[in-house]
Amino acid sequence: MPDILQLVKNKDPQEREFHQAIEEFLESIEPVLEQNPEYRQAKILERLVEPERVIMFRVPWLDDQGRVQINRGFRVEMNSAIGPYKGGLRFHPSVNLGILKFLAFEQVFKNSLTTLPMGGGKGGSDFDPKGKSDNEVMRFCQSYMCELFRHIGSNTDIPAGDIGVGAREIGYLFGMYKRLANEFTGVLTGKSLNWGGSLIRPEATGYGVVYFASEMLSTRANNLKDLVCLISGSGNVAQFTTQKLIEFGAKVVTLSDSSGYIYDEKGIDHEKLAWLMKLKNVRRGRIKEYKDKYSDAVYTPVDLSLDHNPLWDHQADCAFPCATQNEINKKDAENLVKNGVILVSEGANMPTSLEGIDVFLDSGILYGPGKAANAGGVSVSGLEMTQNSMRLSWTRQEVDDRLKMIMQSIHRTCIETAAQFGMPGNYVIGANIAGFVKVAEAMLDQGVV
Ligand code: NDP
Repeated sequence: MPDILQLVKNKDPQEREFHQAIEEFLESIEPVLEQNPEYRQAKILERLVEPERVIMFRVPWLDDQGRVQINRGFRVEMNSAIGPYKGGLRFHPSVNLGILKFLAFEQVFKNSLTTLPMGGGKGGSDFDPKGKSDNEVMRFCQSYMCELFRHIGSNTDIPAGDIGVGAREIGYLFGMYKRLANEFTGVLTGKSLNWGGSLIRPEATGYGVVYFASEMLSTRANNLKDLVCLISGSGNVAQFTTQKLIEFGAKVVTLSDSSGYIYDEKGIDHEKLAWLMKLKNVRRGRIKEYKDKYSDAVYTPVDLSLDHNPLWDHQADCAFPCATQNEINKKDAENLVKNGVILVSEGANMPTSLEGIDVFLDSGILYGPGKAANAGGVSVSGLEMTQNSMRLSWTRQEVDDRLKMIMQSIHRTCIETAAQFGMPGNYVIGANIAGFVKVAEAMLDQGVV
């Protein structure tokens, strides 16, 4: 068999995160390739690692001083075998083609796992919304959409939010799309409630991560009540993971941002979380301010270039990485296991390095990879698309019930698939194989396209 990873490395040597995502995936699906030689004959893998389309464009905008600023915009349309491209937009200075290709690649299999008809894509820009005024963010979003609008559509490609893209950015993007396309359509998800958004969409990724964790624990006759939890990040996913964990009776003791983290031994309760959500979502402040408000908490600045992150070095039962890729390396994973962690459920995409994943799998703890554990966000995006096209709105309870059912079904699929391939309890194998087979079969059915 040709070495797919080597082919990709030769072609695009600088795309390290994309290589990492492919390596993790290829290791898992080997058994299914053995059983299905037709996948190799049809070059399914070679096609999967090549995006169907990449759009890259200049995004010029004016800052508040009237100076011209230039950013780079992207949309990676990875695979549309099972539905229109679907995946978030990320605005962060670290964004480049390799990062978006890794995210789009993972999105293909995640979307397949949800059982909803969605292909995979991802996009964004190296624009940094941090420290920008609302007007600057609006001008940037409008300029970004001036190019993107001709490539997307409610039956073609439906972007959503990701890091740096929340309700504010989706609003500005949608406003410009509507003006350019002259139609009101569900072309973006994560919209606000009063103009086509779905209840529970903001909460969905975080809630889903916790529902998945709860399902994993139930396989060992355990539950989240009174378990001590470490969470990284303090954005959308981290906030609603915290909220659902508190509801389940767990104790959340950490949250972070890219400058540092807080440790609150007494636990973050609903009142503290409500304060934090105002701090992050309205005032757009930093996590270190939590300590000024709740003096029992400890704030530790973190140097991201260090060989480990001290956040993962606390005694705890569960860990929920909800910030960004590669935030848990081998040493962090070893620290977590050494300190008694029995479960890791990933809110972020690819937060654990390949060596870190090996540590989790070798230790026998419950390890839920992002592809499965954080699929709740895109699932409710899928439900938002359904509500938009049917021109109706489901209640909060209805959407939450559907989300719970989807997370339970993803969990069951992972368990059953892993067992079928002789690796019981291995959610990495389960998620990768189940996600892959559905896409591969659709590609076979549709011929060489
Ligand atoms: P937000 O922008 O709302 O929050 C991101 C958080 O992560 C912030 O606290 C941010 O801190 C922190 N962070 C970002 N980059 C770094 C870094 N390099 N080092 C340390 N901390 C960092 O994004 P989301 O909560 O939406 O996304 C978080 C993760 O979840 C991402 O991996 C995303 O791909 C994934 N995800 C999101 C979904 C969604 O529905 N939103 C769906 C599925 C997955 P700071 O403010 O300092 O940058």
